[in-house]
Amino acid sequence: MSEHNIHEIVIVGGGTAGWMAAAALVRLLDRGSTNITLIESDEIGTVGVGEATIPPLIAYNRMLGINEDEFVAATRGTFKLGIEFVDWGAVGERYFHPFGPHGQDFHGVHFHQIYLRERARRKLGDIGDWSMSATAAALGRYARPAPDAALPLSQLAYAFHFDAGLYARFLRGLAERDGVRRLEGKIVDAKLDESNGQVEEVTLADGTSVAGDLFIDCSGFRGLLIEGKLGTGYEDWSQWLPCDRAVAVPSAYAGQPDPFTRSTARSAGWQWRIPLQHRMGNGIVYSSSHLADADAEALLLANLEGEALAEPRRLSFKAGRRRLAWNGNVVSLGLSSGFIEPLESTSIHLIQSGIVKLLALFPDKRFNPVERDEYNRQMKDVYEDARDFIILHYKATRRDDSEFWNYCRTMDVPDSLQRKLELWQAKGRLFREQHELFGTASWVAVLLGQGMVPQGHEPAADALDKDMIADALDKMRLSYQRMAEHMPMHGDFIANACAQVEGSADAA
Ligand SMILES: Cc1cc2nc3c(=O)[nH]c(=O)nc-3n(C[C@H](O)[C@H](O)[C@H](O)COP(=O)(O)OP(=O)(O)OC[C@H]3O[C@@H](n4cnc5c(N)ncnc54)[C@H](O)[C@@H]3O)c2cc1C
Repeated sequence: MSEHNIHEIVIVGGGTAGWMAAAALVRLLDRGSTNITLIESDEIGTVGVGEATIPPLIAYNRMLGINEDEFVAATRGTFKLGIEFVDWGAVGERYFHPFGPHGQDFHGVHFHQIYLRERARRKLGDIGDWSMSATAAALGRYARPAPDAALPLSQLAYAFHFDAGLYARFLRGLAERDGVRRLEGKIVDAKLDESNGQVEEVTLADGTSVAGDLFIDCSGFRGLLIEGKLGTGYEDWSQWLPCDRAVAVPSAYAGQPDPFTRSTARSAGWQWRIPLQHRMGNGIVYSSSHLADADAEALLLANLEGEALAEPRRLSFKAGRRRLAWNGNVVSLGLSSGFIEPLESTSIHLIQSGIVKLLALFPDKRFNPVERDEYNRQMKDVYEDARDFIILHYKATRRDDSEFWNYCRTMDVPDSLQRKLELWQAKGRLFREQHELFGTASWVAVLLGQGMVPQGHEPAADALDKDMIADALDKMRLSYQRMAEHMPMHGDFIANACAQVEGSADAA
């Protein structure tokens, strides 16, 4: 052990970001030499939303040794196979953005190129008909992916919906069991070391001081240390992502939960619908320049499928990211580090990504700038890649029924996205950047789903035998359909998984 090792880690905030970081760091760092303290304020509370995720969370759970059925039972969770988008390309249209691939590539030619070629020749169904996840979702069915790559079920990919409050509680249980110390109290001050500008300690309202070598700022939108103390600065992306407000409300529902999130475009934003075991999570995300708060709330309440179970909660935000995710000895995670809006459920993943990169570049007390710079470079890429994919949903529309959609349809987009769109429009080409979160299938689903059909396809797709392709496409589609028909209904699958957890708890 070196004298330079980090001994004291202080996590500021106990929302999803704080407890995700605490649970991972305590498990993966040397507990003998590192102490972790998490400070949270019951008076301030958490943002209380953030209930839909994307598939990489499975890897985070595995990293922490979490049993998936226990996790689903404890968080009243459901499985998510993708997102159904309603009224995005044009009013009256819908499409599905599934997790996992579409079909299979042939002789090195991407499946979507084959699909585009065939679609130019004869009438074909939606590309989602060649997705295992989309086909199962359409039938309300769910099963875990099969390990055998020869089976269509191996192509199913999933994530989770869960209750945000229960998720933080679940992680807190893991973190405290492994040795994280929790302090309840409101931080009112932070002291800087004049010699190097690093944070030395934070002070709580009752006068307690907590010193640290490394501070993880998980304090939410306020960015208590990263912005409040260090003035790091924020890159504002609202010219591309104009939504800046949300209203959230849970509602009652009966019957089987859908294994997907639904996102319905509205006149100045969109509405989410997230089925949990015990309630539906709903919310509207909108641009306050185009829709008044009271009107947004009324629109949300008018479009609930069941009785509201609580008072609606209003939230404000600005799309963008902190200029440096890691500044001095402060690493920001979660909302303190940036926010891209929840359209593709990326925020929890960005927390996970920050934790994994922090572990890979973990500093010592000398804080080598090379490690910090590399972390900041990688996080910038991750945020910008996710940002471009979200902007795509607003840009790729034919809607002209409101000022909001006219703005989005005609706005300039970042060069990185513009380049992608031009490559797509010519021959349907897509190239995944090195660490890009959303792969080809995701881009294809949104582009085609929102009516951006390319002018042509790759010449290599024409070289394939046309009868062989036609036959293979039909067989593939049928194999997904048959597989899905044999899966359990989603609600039954969950009930069975939860019953097994209860059964093993009773037996213990
Ligand atoms: C409308 C909306 C919908 C969203 N939907 C999704 C989604 O579907 N999927 C997804 O991945 N993400 C979603 N998110 C993002 C998600 O909610 C957050 O990424 C996640 O909850 C993490 O929040 P956090 O922990 O950074 O902040 P918070 O939950 O705000 O936690 C901040 C913590 O800091 C503490 N704190 C703050 N100040 C002090 C102080 N002075 N002293 C002591 N403690 C303090 C608070 O008490 C709290 O414990 C959504 C966000 C919004 C706004």
